[in-house]
Amino acid sequence: MAEVKLKDIVKVYDGGVKAVDNVNIDIKDEEFVVLVGPSGCGKSTTLRMIAGLEDITDGELTIDGKRMNEEAPKDRDIAMVFQNYALYPHMTVRDNMAFGLKIRKYAKEEIESRVAEAAGILEIEELLDRKPKALSGGQRQRVAVGRAIVRKPKVFLFDEPLSNLDAKLRVQMRTEISALHTRLQATMIYVTHDQIEAMTMGDKIVVMKGGVIQQIGSPLSLYNEP
Ligand code: ADP
Ligand code: ADP
Repeated sequence: MAEVKLKDIVKVYDGGVKAVDNVNIDIKDEEFVVLVGPSGCGKSTTLRMIAGLEDITDGELTIDGKRMNEEAPKDRDIAMVFQNYALYPHMTVRDNMAFGLKIRKYAKEEIESRVAEAAGILEIEELLDRKPKALSGGQRQRVAVGRAIVRKPKVFLFDEPLSNLDAKLRVQMRTEISALHTRLQATMIYVTHDQIEAMTMGDKIVVMKGGVIQQIGSPLSLYNEP
């Protein structure tokens, strides 16, 4: 169960750039919401405020009715997948996937079973002992997704996860992430500048421009608007 609400959210960076200006989004449990818009429109900043990686200047973020503005990232029951994968280069795939559970002091057996389960879902079992430099871009992205899955978070955040992949792999991974959403029944918030990605993946699409929301609705409702 995870409803995420952004109420009158504002982000002003040090130096005065207003990156996000009064954004309101109601995200339902198990919804797949895509934030889409051109580079610099405030998508990534919005996602990073939900993750707790940026302070919220004004407004309120709640998850299941609980105010989250001041919660540390690790206390938010959220996992994020980054565009650049953000894998630790000196660690094996297995250790990369286990890391977030280790720092949260999960038992060894629980960590092993969760890593094995996630590796099975993503079909990366045979990569577990490799280091990131021995992986292709698509494999690295699978590991990054695996690292998020093992946490079993209520909310998944994706920040342009496919933009470093070639076109063919991008289409394949779109389908896989959509299938993962169905399988895990989690709330997912996904940032992209790619309109086709937004239209094919989102239950709800939030179109941003210049830090404000221009349109919000289902893919069909956006097609039908003038
Ligand atoms: P998007 O993800 O849509 O490309 P961002 O959220 O990254 O947009 O950026 C929104 C605006 O905030 C841009 O004008 C960008 O230059 C600015 N910005 C982003 N990060 C910072 C930062 N750390 N400090 C100052 N300004 C920033
Ligand atoms: P982006 O492409 O979203 O701009 P960055 O490389 O700027 O990504 O990193 C964004 C954030 O990711 C940083 O604030 C950093 O704290 C966090 N980060 C970096 N590595 C990891 C990691 N391995 N696990 C979780 N968070 C990470």
